[in-house]
Amino acid sequence: MAELRPDERRLADLAAERAVGARRLLRTLVETNSGTANVAGVREAARLLAHELSAIGLRVEWVPGESPQGSREHLLARRGEGSPRVLLIGHVDTVFEPDHPFRGFREEGGRFRGPGVADMKGGLAVLIAALAALDAGRGHARGTVTVLVTSDEEWSSPTSRALAEREARAADFALGLEAGRPSGAVVSRRWGYALYRLVCEGKAAHAGVNPEDGVNALEELSHQVLRLRGLSRPRDGLTVSVGGDVRVSPAKKNIVPDRAEADVDVRFRSPAEESKSRPAFASPKPAHAGARVSLVPGLSRPPLVLTPASRKLLALVRGAARGLGREIEAEETSGGSDASFASALGVPTLDGLGIVGGGYHTAEEWADPASLPFRAQLLAVTLTRLLA
Ligand SMILES: [Zn+2]
Repeated sequence: MAELRPDERRLADLAAERAVGARRLLRTLVETNSGTANVAGVREAARLLAHELSAIGLRVEWVPGESPQGSREHLLARRGEGSPRVLLIGHVDTVFEPDHPFRGFREEGGRFRGPGVADMKGGLAVLIAALAALDAGRGHARGTVTVLVTSDEEWSSPTSRALAEREARAADFALGLEAGRPSGAVVSRRWGYALYRLVCEGKAAHAGVNPEDGVNALEELSHQVLRLRGLSRPRDGLTVSVGGDVRVSPAKKNIVPDRAEADVDVRFRSPAEESKSRPAFASPKPAHAGARVSLVPGLSRPPLVLTPASRKLLALVRGAARGLGREIEAEETSGGSDASFASALGVPTLDGLGIVGGGYHTAEEWADPASLPFRAQLLAVTLTRLLA
């Protein structure tokens, strides 16, 4: 449908109007530090959102999630009931803790700047403006909109994954409010990832007197780093990179170290690529006699894949954009997001419906102010079409 229907036109106008208030909300959200470790700040930012969501007719609840590191709360809000069910996925935490020098919200050079302004407080502002428009325009005829805002996405969602999966299982469609790409595109594919801890063990000895009696764990680690690096096949959709928290012990110049560790980050484009590569990580073989090597699996995220059903969803979103006078494209990215959990459960899923921006996870992070009203309109029209 290239043209908007009159009721959609009216809804789009309302969404643009509501985006003015959402811009103020974005400023407040960015000024409220919500680095993932700053639990009180995360809760404060989520409370601001909860307030906005209940003001526009959503039923809000707080759902605790558990992990070995402790419990956190996530925000769940709904409007309407029954089918079809659309799940909107976002997160309120950022990678910027309170001691990070990148802080505050400002507008300069025609761009919004600030920690989380694109990833993804701008997306939350888009979501609020779109749902406010639906509310003011007497909403959708039927179905349910569920909003899930998690508080630990930047830590790979240890306490929210189960909740995201539960809500995704009940959903007919899922839309992620992560930032639109700098080109203005939405995200139709994301690579998945698996994190491992590489642990090499050897045997300590005096580095000067009898090093030959030791087994140097750092040497073993060096071999493993290169072996793992050699598994990368970016063109086929697999990358492996070793780094992170690298430790060698004992950290003494005169002792052959008997333990060395590092983090391994494995990214894969498709579930098939992941299963093909898995044996290489299952039982690593030591390069040195007497050394032991293990790869301890950590957090992971499945890829977001383009399926026939998600292609249809993309066509619907692009149709809505066309009705609003724009062409939008879809891109692939290797960065992870909670929307991938829905995709892995077979739910047609698209991501990158938030504000357009870039420089994610750096002090260069920015968002395009003009994209806030447009993305709010796009989400509002998309939701009415999905729930028609
Ligand atoms: Zn994000």
